[in-house]
Amino acid sequence: MYAHNWQDFRRPPFSYEREQCPQWETKHFIATYADGCPLEYRCPRSHGWKEQEYHPQNYKVHACRQGEQCGKPHCPYYHGERDRRHPLGPFFRLFPKNRPGATHVHQAFHQLY
Ligand SMILES: [Zn+2]
Ligand SMILES: [Zn+2]
Repeated sequence: MYAHNWQDFRRPPFSYEREQCPQWETKHFIATYADGCPLEYRCPRSHGWKEQEYHPQNYKVHACRQGEQCGKPHCPYYHGERDRRHPLGPFFRLFPKNRPGATHVHQAFHQLY
């Protein structure tokens, strides 16, 4: 794994929450991973903005400011319906429409879109 600064290091998605870790050091160069957070890889929160942007619940969910002009090959934002993700998707496969109790969740979903 190549990372010239631990600020650029990303753990595999799904291993941490979308919320930013309050311990994580974002302003200074980090020489070892433990300098960033005492919990290191076991920490359940996001370490740095990159982990947050590439988190499954954020990745391709928000519109890119550059829009169609964006040239970034691995941009974590979407540029149109073709690469847009809906983060609630897997959740609704677990709770089908006809299932009792899921109705209010579906109403909340339709208000969002
Ligand atoms: Zn942490
Ligand atoms: Zn972009």
